[in-house]
Amino acid sequence: MKLEFVKKDKENDCMHFTLKEANPNMANALRRLMMSSVPTMAIETVEFANNTSVLYDEIVAHRLGLIPLTTDLKGYTPVDECTCEGAGCNKCTVQLSLQAKGPCMVLAKDIKSKDPKIKPVEGDTPIVELLKGQDIQFVATAILGCATRHAKFAPGFVWFTQQPSLEVGNDPEALEEHKDKFPPQVMDNGKVSKKKVEDLDLYDAVDGVDDKIAKVSYDPTTYLFRVEPWGQLSPKDMFLTALEVLDKKLADLEKEVGA
Ligand SMILES: [Zn+2]
Repeated sequence: MKLEFVKKDKENDCMHFTLKEANPNMANALRRLMMSSVPTMAIETVEFANNTSVLYDEIVAHRLGLIPLTTDLKGYTPVDECTCEGAGCNKCTVQLSLQAKGPCMVLAKDIKSKDPKIKPVEGDTPIVELLKGQDIQFVATAILGCATRHAKFAPGFVWFTQQPSLEVGNDPEALEEHKDKFPPQVMDNGKVSKKKVEDLDLYDAVDGVDDKIAKVSYDPTTYLFRVEPWGQLSPKDMFLTALEVLDKKLADLEKEVGA
């Protein structure tokens, strides 16, 4: 397999890369590992000292669990692999707390974290609105976990397509009959423009209309990946951690088979 870094979008931190000389199994294994086996921090338990808001404790706790937290993978170990055997210690958990009095909108940035490296990704995420006389106070515990445990730990979204290629025939008879079925953006003087389809990435829109006009084929050995992180980790960290997890899984398998 060969990997080619393509680009990173500045505005949304998405990473694009191309996987070459691969097959669907390899591409899908990489996609699944990045989405479900890369750990991130998320709030797991919440202890309320007070909550007179309109939302029940359970609903507020659920909302808190879904807030993406910036994650320091080097500083923490997953609870189930920690030396404390799941009891919770400084190596596997971090405490966050919040105290607010209405009237106000309680936002994620109001959460105080004991570790400055672990904090809400989007400070303006609303948690609950407090009216005059209402207040809320809690201590929450965040842990490092994987999306196989709960979807809230997923570090982002990853998808791929096979590399498309386009042959344009623009057969006049076929065009007469089917030209209205193509999106106007890809037409040039009543014909399908190869450049426009490629520039606008509209392969799916021209595929399957009429092969005599435009024929799309996909290369089953080349995969265009897009990694869309939700902010806990950078796309690079998602990718590199997924490879580490894969290495570990293969080593474990080798041990099992050998034994
Ligand atoms: Zn621990």
